Amino acid sequence: MKSDNISGRLFSTLQSQLRAYQSILSLYTIPSKGRAIVAAKTLDSHATVIQEEPIAASSFLQGDPPHLACRQCLKPIPPSSSTTNNSSFCSTTCQTRADNEWSIIDRHCNFDALTSKAKQQSTKFPLLAARLATMILQSQLQLQHHLPTTTPDSLYPTRGTIHDLNNLCFVNNIHNNNNNNDNTNTEASIPEEWRTMHHLLAQSLWPVTHTYPELASYITNNLDIGWYTWLMSRLHVNVFRIDIVAPLMMSALGGGRGGGGGGGGFDRSALLKAAMAAVGTGGDFSLYGNSGTPSESASSSSQQQESGTGVYALASMFNHSCDPNLDVLFPHNTSTLCLQTAREVMVGEELTISYIDAMGMSVGKRRQYLKFAYGFDCNCVRCQEEENERQPPNL
Ligand SMILES: [Zn+2]
Ligand SMILES: [Zn+2]
Repeated sequence: MKSDNISGRLFSTLQSQLRAYQSILSLYTIPSKGRAIVAAKTLDSHATVIQEEPIAASSFLQGDPPHLACRQCLKPIPPSSSTTNNSSFCSTTCQTRADNEWSIIDRHCNFDALTSKAKQQSTKFPLLAARLATMILQSQLQLQHHLPTTTPDSLYPTRGTIHDLNNLCFVNNIHNNNNNNDNTNTEASIPEEWRTMHHLLAQSLWPVTHTYPELASYITNNLDIGWYTWLMSRLHVNVFRIDIVAPLMMSALGGGRGGGGGGGGFDRSALLKAAMAAVGTGGDFSLYGNSGTPSESASSSSQQQESGTGVYALASMFNHSCDPNLDVLFPHNTSTLCLQTAREVMVGEELTISYIDAMGMSVGKRRQYLKFAYGFDCNCVRCQEEENERQPPNL
């Protein structure tokens, strides 16, 4: 279960990832449909299509009790080791990455109020926003040469990965213009919960200005409510739920074989059952995240599944189908996401994932949910077929 794919980090900007996977997939812009990822060659069933690390990921349970999951990669840390050394990270690799990307800022911040409010509201987006904010602030410090980077910038392209957020699609009715960060949202269109959470986030970040006063104006001017709205309108339609299997459950899984090579070979049934990956809002049925389902509520038991959320540059480019040809998996039991073919895919066929757990839902329910949570009318092959079954054409 050891994550063996550090090189994945090299391809963490969208452009370089598209280049890296160009023999497998291509990104097209289809005038009527928007972006689509298409198979560049015929792919066998169970083939690994992409393996990607998140731009940022956050565990819902971080800090309660402390450090059940690695704060960088979300890998479970056995309770025994976390009580003896109070470790926040699963390895020195993760520790180093965190030091390079966000933890220098993070250790000056206090996210307790934000975290408890987010738990109370059963929404994970503010915690992901908090992580992204610390990454942005740390990259600001690094830009100003206040901080050494212990590794070449190309290895940890934080600035590049944050920039990838610009490529993500967003909720139209909230932020209905194409200009980024222009703060032209009409005040009234910003949900009250976002204002509350942004206020808490700004308060959480503020202690860092005691050590780095030069960040004060950046927090005030750049990480303002306009930025938060810009970010939320993207996160809400792009975030993947990461289900991590806690230590005591891992023995039931057997060793998932992840590898970037084409071969398949995860124990699919076990992995799918234990780590069913629903994309997007996960359990947050409400767009504004105040009505989580029971599975969303945090549990302190280390035997239960712990989930986190992550935002991914390339995986976010895949369109939805209610009968997708790709499965979303987390084979290393970390935030590293893997897309694997669910069946043979022909060259030129669009590669799709399911944004929802569509298994038992009727076509009407699926369309209603997708419209509500993602703002589009699903007209995938399965929806078309099931609609035709429901309403036989008049002869
Ligand atoms: Zn880790
Ligand atoms: Zn559909």
